[in-house]
Amino acid sequence: MDTASMGAPDDTPTAPRALATEAVHAGRDDLARQGLHAPPIDLSTTYPSYDSRAEAARIDAFAATGAEPDGPPVYGRLGNPTVARFETALARLEGTEAAVAFASGMAALSAVLLVRASMGLRHVVAVRPLYGCSDHLLTAGLLGSEVTWTDPAGIMEALRPDTGLVMVESPANPTLAEVDLMAVAHACGSVPLLVDNTFATPVLQRPAGQGARLVLHSATKYLGGHGDVLAGVVACDEELAGRLRQVRFATGGVLHPLAGYLLLRGLSTLPVRVRAASANAAELVRRLAADPRIARVHYPRIGGAMVSFEVHGDPHEVIAGVRLITPAVSLGSVDTLIQHPASISHRIVDADDRRDAGVNDRLLRMSVGLEDVEDLWSDLNAALGERSVRGAGHCANGRGEPAAAR
Ligand SMILES: *Cc1c(COP(=O)(O)O)cnc(C)c1O
Repeated sequence: MDTASMGAPDDTPTAPRALATEAVHAGRDDLARQGLHAPPIDLSTTYPSYDSRAEAARIDAFAATGAEPDGPPVYGRLGNPTVARFETALARLEGTEAAVAFASGMAALSAVLLVRASMGLRHVVAVRPLYGCSDHLLTAGLLGSEVTWTDPAGIMEALRPDTGLVMVESPANPTLAEVDLMAVAHACGSVPLLVDNTFATPVLQRPAGQGARLVLHSATKYLGGHGDVLAGVVACDEELAGRLRQVRFATGGVLHPLAGYLLLRGLSTLPVRVRAASANAAELVRRLAADPRIARVHYPRIGGAMVSFEVHGDPHEVIAGVRLITPAVSLGSVDTLIQHPASISHRIVDADDRRDAGVNDRLLRMSVGLEDVEDLWSDLNAALGERSVRGAGHCANGRGEPAAAR
C-alpha cells in the first residue's frame, strides 16, 4: 500500500539537488525502498480504519490546521497518495514548503480567492492582462471578490485594509508582458502576492524566490505537457497550503489520482521539454521579427515556448491556414498550437478591457512544441500567405503552393 507518501516522503533528500534532478526524482524518493520503480496509482475513494477514535482526532487536526493527516488517508477528497507525490514534486521545483493540487487551474484560483474571502479579505488588486477566465472570475465577482485593476506601479496605492491578494501573470497570457516580480512583491507589503507561473514554469522562473507567496499553475499546460490532463496547483507555504486543503475538502475541486500520476510523469521531462520548445520558439521569433507580413512580435526576456505576434493581414486566415500546427486554445503541449486570443482565450473579457490590456484583434498566440523547426516554419510561412502589404487583406493559405520567398 502506497501510504508512505502522504505528506513528506520519508526519504526526502537533505542535500540540495538541481532542478533537472528534482524533476525526475522528487515525489519518488521512497519508491526504491518500497521495491518499486514507477509510482503506484491509488484509486481508492475511501480507506478502512478500525479505530474511529483515532479517525476523529485526525479529522479534528485537519480542521484545525489543514495539515495532511498522518498515517493512512481517510477519504479521497481529503487527500490522495498519488496526487501527493505530484504536490511534493511541484513544491520542490518551485522551492516552496508545499503545493496543493486542484481539478483545474480555475479551481486552484477559486480556492485561493475563497481562502482570502473567508478571512474577510475580499479585495483583490490585479494587473492586466491575465488569462481570460481569471480576468472574468475577478471582474464578474463570481466568488464575492472585488477587483481593482492597476499597472505594476499602481499596486501600492491600490491596496486597502481589506485587500487579500495581489495577482499578476508574468509572462502574461497572451501578450507575454513581463512584470518585475521583486518590485511588485515589495509593493505588496504584507499582502500575499500570487504569481501565475503557467507560462514560465519553474524551469525559467521561480517566483517564490522573488517574494511571491502563492505560485499558481494551470498544470493543464506545461506541467502535464501532453494535452491530456486538466489540472491546477498552488505552490505556497504550509500555512496557506493548509487553508487551501481545507477549502478543497469543503468545495470538492480535487484532482483525480490518474491525473496526479500523469502530472508527476510530465514533470520528469519538464526541463527538457521547456528548453527544446524554447529553442524552437526563439528561432521562430527570429524569422517572424524579420518578416514583413508581421507587424509586431512579442517574446519575453526570460524566453520560453510561447510566442505572440500581430499580423498585418487577417489573423483568422492564418488560423484557417495552418495544417501541421493545430488551431486550438490551450498551450504547453508537445505539439504546436495557435489561437486568436480576441476570439477564444480572451473572448470572455470585455472588448475595451481586452484592448486596453494590449490584446488587440490582430494578435495571434502560438504555443511552440517539439516538432522540427523547419517544418513549423514552413507551415506558418504558408499560413501567413504571400501578401506582405499592410491592409492587403488577402491571406491565402498557400497550401500546396511553394512557400513564400521569406
Ligand atoms: C489556462 C490558464 C489558466 C486556467 O487553467 P485551467 O487549467 O484551464 O483551468 C490560468 N492561467 C493561465 C495563465 C492559463 O493559461
